[in-house]
Amino acid sequence: MPEPQWHLAAAPAVYMATRRARGDVDPATVAAASVLIDADHCCDMAYYRLTGDRYRQLVPLHSWELVALLLLIPSRRFRSVGAGFLVHHVLDLVFGGYGFKELSLAYRAYKRFRTGWLGDWVQWPHGPRGKWQLLYSETRQDRDESGVTS
Ligand SMILES: [Zn+2]
Repeated sequence: MPEPQWHLAAAPAVYMATRRARGDVDPATVAAASVLIDADHCCDMAYYRLTGDRYRQLVPLHSWELVALLLLIPSRRFRSVGAGFLVHHVLDLVFGGYGFKELSLAYRAYKRFRTGWLGDWVQWPHGPRGKWQLLYSETRQDRDESGVTS
């Protein structure tokens, strides 16, 4: 589920931690990338709007493979984006209710993207809470009740 508010809330900490680490990455880019990656949920919204299918999880940028690729590119900018995406993936894994495999593009493709159930957020800006839906967390219970097991 997209929870950009938590990633946004974490961004200053990501920025500070990256600055302290003094790696060969740009802290502002890392922090921005760690939030902006969630824009790919728009693909799921568009797909849902076109098909009404909420059982396919596209999120093309949520991909360990992409993270690895970006980190391997010998460019400070690409590495910074890769580092930001990595931070995002770890947060999604630990707090976001995603499984490790779910965040692999190859695995999702192998499962024909039937790896998760899209919550009410996918109806944005309609749905039970309208425009605010994106800022509401769906609980594990919501997911479990949908009958999806990972
Ligand atoms: Zn995410």
